[in-house]
Amino acid sequence: MSASKPRKYNVVVGGGLAGISLLYRLHRSGFENLLLIEKDALVSGESGKSAGIVLHDEEGLESLDIYRSLDVEVRDLGPFSYVNPYEFAIKLYYGLRSDGVQFELFEEVVDLEAFEGHVIRVITDRSSYPVDRLFLAANLGIERLLGRMGDALPEKYYRIQEIIFRSPVPMEPIAVVNEDFLVRTEGTHRLIVLGRPEVVDKPREGLTRAEPQFVDRVVEFLIREGFGDIGLEKSLIGYEAVYPCNQRYGSNLYIFACFDGMGSTYAPSRAWRMRI
Ligand SMILES: Cc1cc2nc3c(=O)[nH]c(=O)nc-3n(C[C@H](O)[C@H](O)[C@H](O)COP(=O)(O)OP(=O)(O)OC[C@H]3O[C@@H](n4cnc5c(N)ncnc54)[C@H](O)[C@@H]3O)c2cc1C
Repeated sequence: MSASKPRKYNVVVGGGLAGISLLYRLHRSGFENLLLIEKDALVSGESGKSAGIVLHDEEGLESLDIYRSLDVEVRDLGPFSYVNPYEFAIKLYYGLRSDGVQFELFEEVVDLEAFEGHVIRVITDRSSYPVDRLFLAANLGIERLLGRMGDALPEKYYRIQEIIFRSPVPMEPIAVVNEDFLVRTEGTHRLIVLGRPEVVDKPREGLTRAEPQFVDRVVEFLIREGFGDIGLEKSLIGYEAVYPCNQRYGSNLYIFACFDGMGSTYAPSRAWRMRI
């Protein structure tokens, strides 16, 4: 009697907003044998740094419907909403796990085995998994993984910057847009400033503090805009991958990335819109 065929997995690499949103979408679309592999904890990458702002454009509103459908609290802040990325991840984690979706956390994908343009196996630092389809939602980790297949990707990364100020007086939610900065208030005491996205040559994985010159430019801008008496609370820079996004890359390999520095806003709706 012949042995039964080994099980193949539909693998999502990366447990950030992108990977988790995509996993949920795949599950809802009837994909079986779903496996998410994350090298660290869930939302420990850039997603854990998200300020949770969801813009009210068409796709952002679609994402809000998805968040609400999962009973994730959506706070209305006037021109935009707030959703806690951890709450989203945790709700999906427990829901999907109880539906039989497999999560391997603290396990790093270190290699991809391919045959004739088809990924056949994912190799991790602990194990290996035969692959049916592979979805890369590993943000900056994507390029390294594709490099394993001998494929080069365009060297483009998106830079987003966020600086949080504390105001001594309560402020109404506002959004100010000029050609350099998008300034938004969150709640009553915080100002969030997102720098204009730029393409940079040499990204660093993870986050660093914003460059002092950028902070200076933002402070000058805020004073000009009449914000006056404000104190810097913290500043961060994030890098996000911009690849040929959200599409099939090899015959069974998909890339899910590229959220214009706004994954809380776009990851859920774009997971829904992705053609698979
Ligand atoms: C300071 C800051 C504030 C932000 N504020 C907002 C906001 O208010 N609103 C908004 O919409 N967006 C915001 N963003 C953007 C948003 O956080 C990102 O767009 C989003 O988190 C990107 O999600 P991701 O899942 O693609 O990436 P990540 O969260 O980085 O997830 C990728 C995951 O892949 C894992 N990984 C990588 N390589 C491997 C491997 N080889 N094996 C296994 N796992 C691997 C990583 O550990 C990581 O967990 C902000 C970003 C920053 C930095």
